[in-house]
Amino acid sequence: MEAVYRNHGETVSSTSESEWNRVLNQLKGEVGETAFRSWLRPISVQRVDGDQAVIAAPTRFLRDWVATHYADRLLALWRAENQRVTRLSIVVSAPAAPALAVADEADGFRRPGSEPAAALDAADDKAQLSAPLDPRFTFANFVVGKPNELAHAAARRVAEACADPAHIVPFNPLFLYGGVGLGKTHLMHAIAWHVRQHACDRKVIYLSAEKFMYQFIRALRFKSTMDFKEQFRSVDLLMIDDVQFISGKDSTQEEFFHTFNALVDQNRQIVISADKSPSDLEGLEERMRSRLGWGLVADLHPTTYELRLGILHSKAEQAGIRIPQKVMEFLAHKITSNVRELEGALNRIAAHMQLVGRDITLESAQEVLHDLLRSNMRRVTIDEIQRRVAEHYNIRLSEMTSDRRARAVARPRQVAMYLAKQLTTRSLPEIGRKFGGRDHTTVMHAVRKIEELMLTDAGLAEDVELLRRMLQS
Ligand code: ADP
Ligand code: MG
Repeated sequence: MEAVYRNHGETVSSTSESEWNRVLNQLKGEVGETAFRSWLRPISVQRVDGDQAVIAAPTRFLRDWVATHYADRLLALWRAENQRVTRLSIVVSAPAAPALAVADEADGFRRPGSEPAAALDAADDKAQLSAPLDPRFTFANFVVGKPNELAHAAARRVAEACADPAHIVPFNPLFLYGGVGLGKTHLMHAIAWHVRQHACDRKVIYLSAEKFMYQFIRALRFKSTMDFKEQFRSVDLLMIDDVQFISGKDSTQEEFFHTFNALVDQNRQIVISADKSPSDLEGLEERMRSRLGWGLVADLHPTTYELRLGILHSKAEQAGIRIPQKVMEFLAHKITSNVRELEGALNRIAAHMQLVGRDITLESAQEVLHDLLRSNMRRVTIDEIQRRVAEHYNIRLSEMTSDRRARAVARPRQVAMYLAKQLTTRSLPEIGRKFGGRDHTTVMHAVRKIEELMLTDAGLAEDVELLRRMLQS
């Protein structure tokens, strides 16, 4: 570890520092060099306060990652070093920075492949406007599938246009949105890398909305708002990640809006990401909302099985690990929430294989990942059940709540009630309410009826099984 323990201006006692170093070394042995470099090296110790050890991560992402994947183990190892420690907290601590400095393009970015994950290292994150780029987040490493092809194509268009000397902005802004871990940040970094490599004179700024806010508030405090504005207004490409965090903060929104307009007027490219579409973002001023939707709005849909499998293959290859196809398929089936978790699963399996020194089997994969697998069990909603069942039987969704008793709609409705009872934790009265305000006895009757029929009617049993699997996958 490098000595960067000046978070919040505190000095860290050498005891806690050496405890931390031993803990870290142990864990490094357990998780392997790659995982260590990506996730643990950027973490520093802040202090040990009685029974509480406090460590700091440079970003929220890293904090969350370490909290979900390593916190238990870190605490256990720490206790072995120092029995008094019974709690571990992980804080986010932006590296100490002097007054606002102008973004230095020369060292603001690193070339891909130079130093894996070094971008996450807090040690050399100087006071620069643009956040460091993750060298792994390139177009080459982005796996394209149906759910993300539009966003990917749009990002490429922007990157290529920006790198072109003629430089015609194709659409402004490009607004990328989608759920957590679907590749928004990856695409933005990829754009920046591309522009860096093909037109290094272009001034590119990539930063999170949070950092934008932080910089802005800093500038206010140091009365350097003019500089602040100048820096932003002289860029060729401005990318702001996770703008949902800007909503609500009035003065920052105001500033963002002005910056935005100034750049658009000068024909500079803007790329924005958020977890929701402009129209669904809350706490946003109306004029901001409409302005954000002016360009191209491209969403990243939840991944499909094929895309997940493709991503697993690509990541395993990059990491140089060989995982049996069966295990890959299993992961692609089971870890459906987002790509970040998929990578987490892959990392854990890689660490496990390194530890035990042999290939992973389906059984051991299940064991290693049992907590992840549990949290990825699909939570099915009644709405979804109704929709799927209606689609399956080719009837209108409104028949699920209608009074019609014709067999052609009544039977599917009963199937849906049966599945609602089986796959959700809703009570009979709650289910009844969702089906057009029916009585709970009606639901009970439906459940019994379908159970009975499934014993004698193979076709129906097959339908129900198919629907169940589809809903749970
Ligand atoms: P978001 O910003 O949308 O929350 P990220 O861009 O941080 O998600 O992606 C989370 C992780 O998943 C990253 O490690 C990223 O490289 C990976 N990832 C997401 N989508 C893809 C993809 N299509 N191909 C390869 N990796 C992907
Ligand atoms: Mg992101």
